Amino acid sequence: MDSRGHIPVQLPVPNPTPSYWHEPKAAIANYRSADGLPSSADYVIIGSGISGTMVAWNLLEKGVKGKIVMLEAREACGGATGRNGGHTKAASYRTYVDHRAHLSPGEALKIVRLEHANIVATHAFAREHGIECESRPCNTVDIVYDKEAFEKGKESIEMIRGDVSEGERKEGGVGWYRVWGKEDAIKRFWVSKENENRIVKEKEELQGAFEYAAGSLSAYRFTVGILELCLKRGLQLWTNTAVTEVRPIFGGENGETGGTGFLWEIHASLSIVRTQNVVMAINGYTAHLLPAMQGLIVPMRGLLTAQIPGPKAKFPTPLPTTYSFIYNQGYEYMIPRLLPGGSDGQHIVIGGGLGRQNDGGVSEYGTCDDSTMNQEMSIYLKEAARGYFGVENWGEGKGNEKLRVKKEWTGIMGATRDGLPLVGEIPEMKRFWISAGFNGHGKW
Ligand SMILES: Cc1cc2nc3c(=O)[nH]c(=O)nc-3n(C[C@H](O)[C@H](O)[C@H](O)COP(=O)(O)OP(=O)(O)OC[C@H]3O[C@@H](n4cnc5c(N)ncnc54)[C@H](O)[C@@H]3O)c2cc1C
Repeated sequence: MDSRGHIPVQLPVPNPTPSYWHEPKAAIANYRSADGLPSSADYVIIGSGISGTMVAWNLLEKGVKGKIVMLEAREACGGATGRNGGHTKAASYRTYVDHRAHLSPGEALKIVRLEHANIVATHAFAREHGIECESRPCNTVDIVYDKEAFEKGKESIEMIRGDVSEGERKEGGVGWYRVWGKEDAIKRFWVSKENENRIVKEKEELQGAFEYAAGSLSAYRFTVGILELCLKRGLQLWTNTAVTEVRPIFGGENGETGGTGFLWEIHASLSIVRTQNVVMAINGYTAHLLPAMQGLIVPMRGLLTAQIPGPKAKFPTPLPTTYSFIYNQGYEYMIPRLLPGGSDGQHIVIGGGLGRQNDGGVSEYGTCDDSTMNQEMSIYLKEAARGYFGVENWGEGKGNEKLRVKKEWTGIMGATRDGLPLVGEIPEMKRFWISAGFNGHGKW
């Protein structure tokens, strides 16, 4: 990541790979509240992903006074949120030991609880507001192929269990985990005892599995659903409107020398919007508008595929849990998705492949180009589900392997060195807020 952190961060490219989740597109995909931009606003939110959208929702929910404007370079939800893996998952045990060592036990526990609460709240929100987004709270399983990762995982789980309350250790709680040995994992989760991916040359033997609470949804439908609610409550949205610069207005604060009441100028589409509050929610693209973030939030391109299991697949439709597959140098993440429209098939949405690259995936850092994909990763991922479930469970027939891959697409995440996001008001930049650097965490 560090070696690619100096590459100048660009605006979102205009022709991204078409996202699986954008079919069909939302009614508000190209929404604009008026022809031209307003000359002023009380809040300008840049970016219409889950971050920008939830900021808008919370401002409206809190009843703040004034005009809230959102500007989006692409169609609504055209970035990572509209292009991700659909996993609502936090493999908190994988980072807990580290957080405990570098922060403090209390802080580490706060992170674990926040991650778990976020998953629960997301599905509850969809339910309460009737947002049709394929929301499915369910268990997840990490299928582990690396002995060391399995041993470390067990230790970390024990540590979490020891630190949380008794109530939190109950099924579905933040401290609830089941550890499965190899034979149980094979029987319960229909996986192969050895990775059968023809591209992986080393022998990879299954070690065991960890099961815990998680879920899946269409993050695109979820977020555009909330955006629609925000529009009804007064949010003003301009899609296809890239912000090219944010400039301070000196002496601009109300009550200060000759103040205009505005602190910031937002430059977009040959217009200027003056505002008291800026919320920058552009994740991987942050450094383009905020050069101080160059190298601190680094764009990272991820690749996903949607695949159809073979006609003789031995596992149920839909698979009862979501999955991750953990090996020595990395991991893949996977959700089963019931085909919309009532047909009884399922798509296996599986992404990753970074750890399988000779360079450890370094080439995917520092790029904002989600109009293309890494061909090596693409070839590898097309074999990944077959490899982990094994030819027999995957139900492979002859001749139609290419038809198995329904779609592949890319998206840009925002990576930070310590794996933690940056959220809040920027020091010495009054009323300039940031919410970015989510690292794709939650999808392991
Ligand atoms: C391939 C992939 C798979 C992932 N899988 C998962 C998963 O399964 N589960 C999970 O929890 N997370 C996953 N993630 C991570 C997750 O999707 C992101 O962390 C999250 O969506 C970030 O939301 P956001 O609103 O901060 O950013 P985004 O959704 O990227 O939104 C930022 C928006 O800002 C816009 N923008 C950028 N620059 C400008 C500008 N100058 N002017 C105006 N608009 C601008 C962009 O077009 C974009 O729409 C994945 C990400 C990717 C890319």
